[in-house]
Parts: sequence; structure tokens; C-alpha cells
Amino acid sequence: METALMNIKITKTTESRVAQFDENNINFARMYTDHMLVADYEDGEWKTAEIMPFGNMSMHPATTFIHYGQSIFEGIKAYKSEDGSVNIFRPQDNFERFNISAKRMAMKEVPEGIFMGGLKTLVDMDKDWVPAVDGTSLYLRPFLFATDEFIGVRPPTKFRFMIIMTPAGAYYNKAIDIYVQDKYVRAFPGGVGFAKASGNYAAAMQPTVEIQEQGFDQNLWLDGVERKYIEEIGTMNVFFVIGDKVVTPSLESGTILNGFTRASVMTLLRDKGIEVEERKISIDEIVEASATGTLKEAFGAGTAAVIAPINSLTYKGAKMSLPPQEEWSVSPGVKQELADIRYGRSEDKYNWMFSVEA
Ligand SMILES: *Cc1c(COP(=O)(O)O)cnc(C)c1O
Repeated sequence: METALMNIKITKTTESRVAQFDENNINFARMYTDHMLVADYEDGEWKTAEIMPFGNMSMHPATTFIHYGQSIFEGIKAYKSEDGSVNIFRPQDNFERFNISAKRMAMKEVPEGIFMGGLKTLVDMDKDWVPAVDGTSLYLRPFLFATDEFIGVRPPTKFRFMIIMTPAGAYYNKAIDIYVQDKYVRAFPGGVGFAKASGNYAAAMQPTVEIQEQGFDQNLWLDGVERKYIEEIGTMNVFFVIGDKVVTPSLESGTILNGFTRASVMTLLRDKGIEVEERKISIDEIVEASATGTLKEAFGAGTAAVIAPINSLTYKGAKMSLPPQEEWSVSPGVKQELADIRYGRSEDKYNWMFSVEA
């Protein structure tokens, strides 16, 4: 990390905008911090990464990702503890997943020094932008796109890696109404479902608009082959509490994003002695559990919402309602424990928090 840090060229802004930032009134993604990181790959090597004032960039109209979509990203959060220290949640995991995504899209992997060293330096420089109010955070967005100025179809040879950051407010956890999507699919075996590829988001937009027009919040995606097994909800992993067990879809199909909120939830549950099963879950099993009253809780898990409780699931015109949240006994505790670790209120016994000052 030392050598990597020395390799970042830093140009500080002369006009910080942080005074305009009100941490009690955060509009996610409306304001970006003072600085951003840019690193280019060309002529077979990564050039020196640069941290510079946040701003626009210009681009050749034939830039390849605009046409063919070689673009991936990550979503990470940094948290401020009561003592003012700033820590990033599990960035090493995001770094590894980032390069798994890069490989699948025939893109150059980003070196650890640029990704991890860049995050650390950038967050430390802009730490006055990390809000301290409970439930808030600084959202970090690393992304990589192909920059060949060429509309011929071929694997790209030039890339740009960037990190931008925006404050995130406390997420209002209204329980969501889910549409079990049996027409469109998000991913299929052999495809790119496991990658955090921009195109996955593009392809999910229209099916989401369609169900939101009918009053639903998110799709529950079923597998692309049989439309039978549960995969994810919207852009989150999904959990169900059935009886005294917690179940979540297993990842071996390669069609589900390997989320670290998911992994963290499983770790916390198992540590409390709660049985967690990762396996195939058919929608019929959920319908059955709902009918017999053993479906106790259902929730999404992802960096943005952390835990998103589900109010109802609608499948083939029939609505299944979850018990009221006041009766939930599993997910609220996990959510609290996760928050306590992130804000430094409880011991970081799994080594999830990465200090930007150390
Ligand atoms: C990012 C993402 C998730 C959640 O992953 P986390 O690491 O928990 O943020 C789940 N599903 C999809 C499709 C995603 O893109």
C-alpha cells in the first residue's frame, strides 16, 4: 500500500464546497465531494492515478463503452464514528468483486494500490463530507469503463478507472411491496448476473418501471431457465425467515450478485446461533410457507438500503402479506448490530472496518 499511495498525484481544490453541504438535509447523489480519482490504462500499463477537483470530463464520440457498454462499478460506504474517525465497510471485498466483474467484461483489472490506496486517500482528503448523523454515510462509487476511441467491435485496450463520492442520508425503511416477475429475467446461466455490470442495471429499468406503474416497489427476479427459483429483489439480495430458519438463494448458478451485506447478515445470524441455509428456494415454497403461516419475515439486503423489509409479495395475481414488522424478531436485531459495528459503537470483531487514517 505504501508504494501505491506514493504513486497518486494529488491536486487539491482551491474552492472547497463543503460549507454548502448540510448533513441534516442530505439529497443522495445531488452533491459530490470536492475531489475525485482518475487513473487511465493505456499502452499496456496503468498510468499514475490522480486525485483532482471534481468536475466534468470531455470524451471522443466513439469512446467504446458508450457504444458497447463495457462498464462496471461498485458501491461502498464510509461511516463516521462518534470519536470522529472514518472507516470504510469491507472495501477489500469490493475490490476483489470489482476485478471479477472487470474480467467478465474483458476489461483490465485495477491494481490494489490504485483501488484501495485511492479509496483511502480520497476519503481521508474529503472526510469533512462524511456525515455524522446516525444512519448517514459517504457513498463511494468506484467505476471502470473502456475508453478506446473506436467503434469497431473488439476487446478494448484503453480504460479509465474513477472514484467519485456523494453523501448518503438515513434510508427510510418503509416496507416494500414486491412483484414476483415471471415475464422478464435479470440474469441467466452463462450470462453476467454475478458481475456488477452497468448493463444489468440498464436491462432491469424497464421491467421496474412497468411494475412501479402498478404500485409495486421492486421486482423479485426468478431464474431465467424455469422461472421457478428465487434470485434477487431489485438490486438487492433476498432473505426469508421460515419458521426458525433463515434462507437465502445460493450463488452457484452464477446469476446472483455476491453481496457483502448478504454475507455480513449471514455471519451475524450464524453467530447468534440462528440457522441460515443457502440453497435453491422455489417461489412455490414461499407461497406454501405464506399459506401455512411459517413465513415470518422477508427482506432485501444491499449497501444502499442495508436491510429493506418486505411488506408483501404478489405472484400470479395473488398477494401474500408478511406479518406486521412489530412482530419481526430476526432482521431488526441484525440491522442494529450492523449499524453498531459501522459507527464504531461495538467491537469490530470480524475486521470489517477499514480505517482511512491508519
Ligand atoms: C450491488 C448489488 C447487490 C448488493 O451487494 P452489496 O455488496 O451488499 O452492496 C445485490 N444485487 C445486485 C444486483 C447488486 O448490483
